[in-house]
Amino acid sequence: MRLSRYFLPVLKETPAEAQIASHRLMLRAGMIKQASAGIYSWLPLGYKILKKIETIVHEEQVRAGHIPMLMPTLQSADLWKESGRYDAYGPEMLRIRDRQDRDMLYGPTNEEMITDIFRSYVRSYKDLPLTLYHIQWKFRDEIRPRFGVMRGREFLMKDGYNFDLTKEDALHAYNRHLVSYLRSYERMGLQAIPMRADSGPIGGDDTHEFLVLAETGESEVFYDAEITDLKFGDREIDYDSVEQCQGVLEEFTSRYARTDETHDEAVWADVPEDRRRVARGIEVGQIFYFGTKYSEAMNAVVQGPDGKQAPVHMGSHGIGVSRLLGAIIEANHDDKGIIWPEGVTPFHVGIVNIKSGDAEADAACEDLYKSFVKLGLEPLYDDRNERAGGKFATMDLIGLPWRVTVGPRGLKNGVVELTSRRTGESEELPPEEAVAKIA
Ligand code: ATP
Ligand code: MG
Ligand code: MG
Ligand code: MG
Repeated sequence: MRLSRYFLPVLKETPAEAQIASHRLMLRAGMIKQASAGIYSWLPLGYKILKKIETIVHEEQVRAGHIPMLMPTLQSADLWKESGRYDAYGPEMLRIRDRQDRDMLYGPTNEEMITDIFRSYVRSYKDLPLTLYHIQWKFRDEIRPRFGVMRGREFLMKDGYNFDLTKEDALHAYNRHLVSYLRSYERMGLQAIPMRADSGPIGGDDTHEFLVLAETGESEVFYDAEITDLKFGDREIDYDSVEQCQGVLEEFTSRYARTDETHDEAVWADVPEDRRRVARGIEVGQIFYFGTKYSEAMNAVVQGPDGKQAPVHMGSHGIGVSRLLGAIIEANHDDKGIIWPEGVTPFHVGIVNIKSGDAEADAACEDLYKSFVKLGLEPLYDDRNERAGGKFATMDLIGLPWRVTVGPRGLKNGVVELTSRRTGESEELPPEEAVAKIA
């Protein structure tokens, strides 16, 4: 992409309404524009990153054997009346009436709708296990939308639902989700720690939240410092293996890690004092096992091997796709701007021409551009007729991992400058070598 042809409305001023770094930076970098309280337009740069995050989530869900689909944003109130949540959900639910006077709502989550789909088609245990998911916009009329996309009212969520014959099978689905979530967050350059949590209005017995440690997080968390040493890394996992998935769960929940809702002073006292950490965290996902809560209320039953009808065991599992942009920026920025982890960066490399219009510099930039494209990388080429200082500031703000700076003086010596956004270190080297280093 050539910056002269892109739409990147960078702001010079720090927007007064933004209280935390990620919100400020997303506005300044021209990623989002508020449409109304807690509702945002995703401008091209923000949209590009949102799609990258969505792709990682899709890939990891499919790898775990979960099946993508899409349910609508608008739902009929009838199903929610059946489950009993139409009254229970409260003012966070946006209720709408259509012209036929039917009660509708903008879905805050989809347990009812997916259970209805399931019961409409599935009759036998032979069709299980089954895990369906979608990535769709949700609406929750949050009392205090704030921090930009972190607590929006309209937000993008991945929500998946497992249907199993037995509790054991459903717990295996739970564990599969835990593993796939660990992989997803790590691919985004994030450490998200599974913590014992409270089940809230969805209801259930087993639940973990995934938290990214950050001072601006809204949850208070208590953990054993040893938990932060655990990495999933690139280990192979067989998602069909009950033992392997259970093993990962046991490993990643082997140290004390809880949110304030489930914090227990008695158990906490057993953690060696020098390893106790009290901090703040951002909830970027949550997994639940809730048994037959919805299947009983909504009569989602299958015939078991014994010929008897039994309600299915279910769980629901969510990832805050749009919130993740905020969380990644909270964990990866400095006073100049964002520092994108490689896995989610909107462009792989920025090319800064410090003397646009100079024939040699222009030609060298074009060559670099083509070389990157040939390698399957996406460069962002700042070909605008602007001061070098302004171009550097923009690149630092939008946070691409690499910058190649091209100018007539360097070219005389056959070199360009390659700068790492994260370390700030620069080196001069021939253009081909700069390309090879990034590839
Ligand atoms: P929170 O405690 O932050 O209100 P939640 O527990 O109500 O979140 P869940 O029902 O667990 O949310 O939804 C799954 C995921 O969706 C959350 O882990 C979070 O990452 C994301 N999410 C929830 N509410 C919002 C929101 N208002 N804006 C952006 N993302 C959200
Ligand atoms: Mg909430
Ligand atoms: Mg929560
Ligand atoms: Mg939650």
